[in-house]
Amino acid sequence: MRTKLVAGNWKLNGSLSSIRELIDGMLAGVDAVKTAGVAVCPPAIYIPEVTAMVKDSKIAVGSQNVCDQDSGAYTGEIAGAMLKEFGCEYAIVGHSERRSLYGEDDAMVAARFAAARRNGLKPILCIGEKLEEREQGVTEDVVSRQIDAVIAVEGISAFADAVIAYEPVWAIGTGKTASPQQAQDVHAFIRGKLAALDAGIAENIIIQYGGSMNAGNAEELLGMPDIDGGLIGGASLKAADFLAICQAAG
Ligand code: PEP
Repeated sequence: MRTKLVAGNWKLNGSLSSIRELIDGMLAGVDAVKTAGVAVCPPAIYIPEVTAMVKDSKIAVGSQNVCDQDSGAYTGEIAGAMLKEFGCEYAIVGHSERRSLYGEDDAMVAARFAAARRNGLKPILCIGEKLEEREQGVTEDVVSRQIDAVIAVEGISAFADAVIAYEPVWAIGTGKTASPQQAQDVHAFIRGKLAALDAGIAENIIIQYGGSMNAGNAEELLGMPDIDGGLIGGASLKAADFLAICQAAG
């Protein structure tokens, strides 16, 4: 039986004082979240502060990316072991902003996914189509290609310790949410694709939805059978909104 997971992606937002206020707000209400897992992914420099603040709570911490390499001359990158050392449990990989703004292609995302796993982090693999790809009817081809790139490097078994976040690019930060049925259709496709290779992994893997999920639309989205939580951007920056989504997850 899958439990849901709601993760907040804070992106490049916050200050020491604002993240303290945000975490304090979350700590005050998180006990009302009964079954769902809760995680936050702060800007990397705040990870030590956040892990210290949440250490006696059910809130887990993730990074927004991880280097494909473990050490060496890779200026500006952060290795999986470093993230692990500071208490991270998850690492987002392949977020559409990394793919589109920083040129991370499928092979690079797969290498980062592999680096997360070999350092004991659970990758949250972001996949999803752009608006023109949806309009061309190639959504399934796109998410298939993105998943296949990881399977080619890591094999299907790697998904036993991973999360997938289906994030249609046209819905990220735009206020346009995929309808529950649109999202469900893609989630079911992804699960079916994995099931063709390993039924057990497909049944157990958490497939989050991401893209303008908020306190108002979370319940309907999370009520769909293959939507196992959310990766939340904007709405994760306000404790009350984020907690409302977590509570909608269970
Ligand atoms: C995201 O960045 O992963 C995301 C889903 O953002 P938003 O919720 O703001 O659309």
